[in-house]
Amino acid sequence: MSLIDQALKANEQFARKYDPKLGGRPQPKIAIVTCMDPRLSDLEGILGLKTADMDVIRTGGPAVTDDVMGELVVSTRVLGSKEIMLLNHTGCGFTTFTDKELNEKLARETGDATPVPMRLFSFKDPEENTRAQIERVRSHPWIAKDVPVRGFIFDVDTGRLREVKHG
Ligand SMILES: [Zn+2]
Repeated sequence: MSLIDQALKANEQFARKYDPKLGGRPQPKIAIVTCMDPRLSDLEGILGLKTADMDVIRTGGPAVTDDVMGELVVSTRVLGSKEIMLLNHTGCGFTTFTDKELNEKLARETGDATPVPMRLFSFKDPEENTRAQIERVRSHPWIAKDVPVRGFIFDVDTGRLREVKHG
């Protein structure tokens, strides 16, 4: 059975015990941008915050794209988040290639170069990446100045967070 079929089966059980009150209006308190990497999935465990309090925006890296900026604006301006956390990590898969390398490789392997250049947001240094993210979010005119924007690197070997200071 595929994992999706397995998940559909499990959802039938889940829905039987579902509390309809959970369908009420979301009231996030913090927006967190983090990587798609499964090692960053247990945010309740890593951060000790409640799932209901977190707007979690995930991209590879993570990359703070135009779309992510839009989501941060909505999270803080519409939904009520009061803080922004940029959560990077060590050992990211997006540091293992460059956009150019992967574009060339996939075009070669598939024999089809029509998607080139695909923007993949690869990077080399998580610290540098985090600083650039803080700068990008902090300087956005629609992110209120009283919303703290802080960046961190999660060490996948120790489970510890380290703050990256801007500037
Ligand atoms: Zn990653």
